[in-house]
Order: sequence, then structure tokens, then C-alpha cells
Amino acid sequence: MTDRTSGTADLALVNGAVYTVDTARPWAEAVAVRQGTIAAVGTDDEIRSQVGADTEVIDLRGRMLLPGFQDAHIHPPAAGLEMLRCNLSDAYSREDYARIITEYASTHPDDAWITGGGWSMDVFPGGTPTRQELDALVPDRPVFLPNRDGHGAWVNSRALEMAAITRETRDPADGRIERDANGDPSGTLHEGAMSLVDDVLPVTSAEDLEEGLLVAQAHLHALGLTAWQDAIVGGPYPTLETYVACAERNELTARVVGALWWDRHRGAQQIEELIDQRAKSSVGRFRATSVKIMQDGIIENFTAAVLEPYIGLDGVPTTNRGISFVDPELLKGYVTQLDREGFQVHFHALAERAVREALDAIEAARRANGPNDLRHHLAHLQVVHPDDIPRFRELNVVANAQPLWAMSEGQMVNLTIPFLGPERAAWQYPFASLVRAGASLAFGSDWSVSSADPLLEMHVAVNRASFPSYAYGGADDHSLEPFLPQERVDLATAVHAFTMGSAFVNHLEDVTGSIEVGKYADLVVVDRNLFAHPASEIHEARALLTLVEGERVFTAPDFR
Ligand SMILES: [Zn+2]
Repeated sequence: MTDRTSGTADLALVNGAVYTVDTARPWAEAVAVRQGTIAAVGTDDEIRSQVGADTEVIDLRGRMLLPGFQDAHIHPPAAGLEMLRCNLSDAYSREDYARIITEYASTHPDDAWITGGGWSMDVFPGGTPTRQELDALVPDRPVFLPNRDGHGAWVNSRALEMAAITRETRDPADGRIERDANGDPSGTLHEGAMSLVDDVLPVTSAEDLEEGLLVAQAHLHALGLTAWQDAIVGGPYPTLETYVACAERNELTARVVGALWWDRHRGAQQIEELIDQRAKSSVGRFRATSVKIMQDGIIENFTAAVLEPYIGLDGVPTTNRGISFVDPELLKGYVTQLDREGFQVHFHALAERAVREALDAIEAARRANGPNDLRHHLAHLQVVHPDDIPRFRELNVVANAQPLWAMSEGQMVNLTIPFLGPERAAWQYPFASLVRAGASLAFGSDWSVSSADPLLEMHVAVNRASFPSYAYGGADDHSLEPFLPQERVDLATAVHAFTMGSAFVNHLEDVTGSIEVGKYADLVVVDRNLFAHPASEIHEARALLTLVEGERVFTAPDFR
């Protein structure tokens, strides 16, 4: 047994399957906590010897104790707002969307706009819902509903009118207005075209955002999460202030690194502002030391940057290679400057050209500034050219993956594989290849794009397949069949990616991410030993108790 200080424990968790994520001692039975840190890890007898009259003892009854989960790419304040607004993210059909929207409109008669979102592209033909369908539900008020990817929005005629979007409106450089056969806006706005409406939306108040963050935090603690990297701080919402305000009031119980939003319509002059924002952001468990650069969009609407052109809906190759949101040569300069200023760069790099451009930019920074420990990372990594896989390790770049997407659901079958063609479609989500090539792997959910539940995410990482409660069962849904099964990772790798892997990204691995003496007692109790059950059952597991520095931040109602 390792014991840092002698004396009795404040809290003892005994009789458990303690999986430590510490290679020196992966398994133990019990843990003692003193003053918010892990004081001892050992057998039941060893820990029980530290139990005194004032020690709280939790009998784990064979259930699993893990380090608190950490999410490397997530959007809690916006997701929390969505939970509070017209929330479509738990539904999966046009009928359900219609019901939820109608119900929300009738119960919120005073909302000038109806906002929220979370619809799924594959529910609609071509991924593009129409204004007429929305007009039939809400004719009198503007409606603006981003999809669950946040890369497109469904709007009604009133919203288009308020934003003065007509057939004469030109597409912005970084987006597209979906149009009908007559050239009229048809009701879907892609990428940068969303900001045409965004600009006329009522301002979300500071109180709304703080409420959103705290609702989100409670949800995440209930899923066993104790830390995350917020992938967009600032940008559409002033969420730097949201985090700082909640941290100052001691209401931020999670550890959070914020990735400050890189405005792609501006250049290097914004770096001074980012430095200022970083300087004022270090409060409590929060700091904003990362910068988020969106390098491309998504495949389903042809905005992800690919090396060879997309194949069209008709099966014929197009000339479209997607969009590099930042010019790749300029990107090298920006990343070199950010790297010199000590910022970690968090890229959205989804398809293979964006991945290559991001790696090239980091390589340029290395060449100019030499090596450092900033841990730049690339999120999404849907398509990675095989030649680029070894570069993650060579350049010390973390692969920040969203495993729930690695399945054959309708969007993959209808809106991805046909557009990529067979060769590239097989390069998707190459988690095992990255691990074999020595890359560090971190996992994140991209909530509210996908479920924030790390156990569901791990289920897909390990099985490369969905589970009955998630698969929607449409004719195009093959998500229960394994998708590129050679890219499965084992459970230990998946747990590592959601604990130490993400802690590494957040520079928190010295104080969290594993159950070791001296680290914070950020812990989660899961209802079963995941390693003792078949991989096909990971999705059935759930978090029962979540602790941050030994304090309960979530207790399941049925936890005894
Ligand atoms: Zn994201």
C-alpha cells in the first residue's frame, strides 16, 4: 500500500473493482481520500485500517471505481442552452420534431424567436429540411434551429425575412444558402450562411449562458465527467465570461480548459486579444489556454476539406474539394505565432485535406519555434490519409477523436460513404491505426452533437457498432453491424482515452486522470466492472456517483 501521510481518512471507498488507469498498479480494491486528494490505494484491509470515527465509508459492493471521465472536445454552455430551449436532440423523426416544435411554440408564447436545435440531417431527404415544413408548424414567429452538428440550420420563412435573405442574397465565402429549383432560399443554411440569421437573433443574456453552463455541468457530472475541454469559448457566445463568472462564484465544480475561438474572418491581429483573454481567464478550476481553429466543415454538406473531389449525389465525381476555412499558408503563420505565444492549438480537422493542413501548420511551428509541451490536438479526424497517420507521433500531436461517430448509421450510409467513394470511406476514424502508430489518443463527445455519455462513446470505440437504444432502425441504419472493425480499440485503451488521454490534453495528468496517491479524488463509481462483462454490454453501464476532490457532485437516486 502507498500512503502519503498517516492518519485517518475523510472518505474510504472499499470493496470495489478499482481500475486505476495507473500502469504501475492497474487494479485495487479500495481507496482512501483525505482533504480532497487520494491518500491511499490498496486492498480492503489496508484501507480499512485508515477508517476512523469520522471517516465516511462507501461500500462499493464490487462495483467499479474509475478516475473521473474527462471529455477533450465538448460544448457545454451551448448544449445547456439547447436543453433549456426547443431541444430536438433526443428525437429522431420528422413527426417527433414537429411535435416538439409545436409543443415548445405553444408553451413559450412570449419568445420572440424559437431557437434551440439538435435535429439530425439524415432524417430529411438530402439532409436539407425546408422552410415550408417549418412554416406549417410556426407561421407567425421566426424559427432558427441548428442541426446536431452545428454546421447547418433549419429556418422558416419569417426568419429568412427578418435576416433579409432572398434569392438575390449571395452565398458567403464560408457557407451556402440551400435553394430550391427557382433559386429561392429553401430553408437550410450551411456553415457561414447561418451567421446571416445569427446576426439578427435576440442576444442571449449572460444569465442565460450561466444557467446553460450549470445545467450542462449537472448533466455531465451525472455521466461521471469531472473535467473537459470546451471546444469553443467565445465566438458565437461570450462564454469566456460565463466560465469566469461561475468559477468566481465557486459554482464551477468541473475542471475546464477553454479553447478560445479563432475568428477566421480576421487574421493575426486577434492574437493580442487572445493573450488578454487568457490572462484574465485563470479562475478556480478554469483557464483558457487553448485556441480553437476550425479548418473545415463536414462531409455531409461538402464543406469538409478533401484531397480528391467529392462524388456527387448522382454518383458522378464533382470538382468540389470542400472548404479550407483558413488559407493553409496563412494557417502556418498563425499557428507558428500562437505556438510562440504558448497557446495550445485545438483544430477542427475533419477530412483528410484539413488534417494534412493542420499537421503542416504544426510542423511549420515546430521548425520555427522548436519543440515544446503545448500538446496541439486535432479533433474529429473522420478521414485521415494513411500517409499522415505517423505524423501525429512525429509531431507530438494528440488525436482527439469522437468515437460515437464511428458507426454505420443513416448519415454515414447516405450522406458520407457515397460522397467519399470506397477508398476514402475506409480511412474513416482510424483509431487503432493511430494508436499502433504511437499517437496519443484522447476522446471527446462533441456534445450536443452527440451524447455526452462516455460509456456510450466507449461502447462504440470498442465495438465500432451502435446499441439497440440508439440505433433508430430505419432501413438505412446498419449501425448494429461493426463499421471498419479493424479500427476497434480495446476497453483499456478507450478508458485511457477518456481519462489520462484527455487529462494529457488539458495538462491535468499530474493531478487527475488516474487513481494514484497525491492526485485529486476526482472519481466515478460505475454500476458494474466493465472488464467483467462482454464488450457488447458496455452501453448498459451507468455512472452512480461522481466525486470532485472527494465531494459528491452527483449521486444517483438509487445509489446505496
Ligand atoms: Zn465541436
